[in-house]
Amino acid sequence: MPLRIGLFGGTFDPPHVGHLVTAVNVRHALALDLVVLMVANVPWQKEGSRPITPALDRLAMVEAAVADVPGLVAGRAEIDHGGPSYTADTLGFLAQEHPGATLFTIVGDDAAAGFETWQRYTEVAHHSHLVVVDRPGDPVALPDSYPWIRVEVPRLEVSSTDLRARCVDGRPLDYLVTQPVLDLIAERGLYRETA
Ligand code: ATP
Ligand code: MG
Repeated sequence: MPLRIGLFGGTFDPPHVGHLVTAVNVRHALALDLVVLMVANVPWQKEGSRPITPALDRLAMVEAAVADVPGLVAGRAEIDHGGPSYTADTLGFLAQEHPGATLFTIVGDDAAAGFETWQRYTEVAHHSHLVVVDRPGDPVALPDSYPWIRVEVPRLEVSSTDLRARCVDGRPLDYLVTQPVLDLIAERGLYRETA
């Protein structure tokens, strides 16, 4: 049986419960075999605006976050290929690794709104099913030039930006990230100085 694979890309700086709730619920709703939380190497849309935690630290946090979660895996293809990360290329890596798989590109509502700014977004729309994660009762307006699948997921108001600020201020991250992620942040001394 060919696999059904969801690509959920992000900076994951750090990965939080909003990411996990999304990945688990999209997997369930669309009966996906796997959801790959693909860690961006150089997030080109964020470059220059703030210091980004080294890719291997972000990968380690995502690996820790998904370690005990069935059907969720950390993806390192973008890091291994180096350079800037474009989803159009990443879908190609996944297709090579899993011949015949049906691919889904999963984006949050904020990312969906900027979809047409993505490099080669028409390729992304051709080579995968676009999945927009939406909060219940508040559908994001989408262009009708591509097919979209909308999946409603409870929206947790958690962002990596807020979590980094919490670390700097010494406020707790408990229950906003999983314990293994919290342990890694402490062990590696991440997010102490920058927000
Ligand atoms: P930052 O605050 O640094 O932008 P972030 O929390 O938005 O970080 P990203 O790594 O930028 O996390 O996001 C990766 C993907 O997760 C994007 O598609 C984004 O829309 C989605 N996402 C982010 N936060 C949430 C959340 N709380 N619930 C559901 N999806 C989310
Ligand atoms: Mg974001």
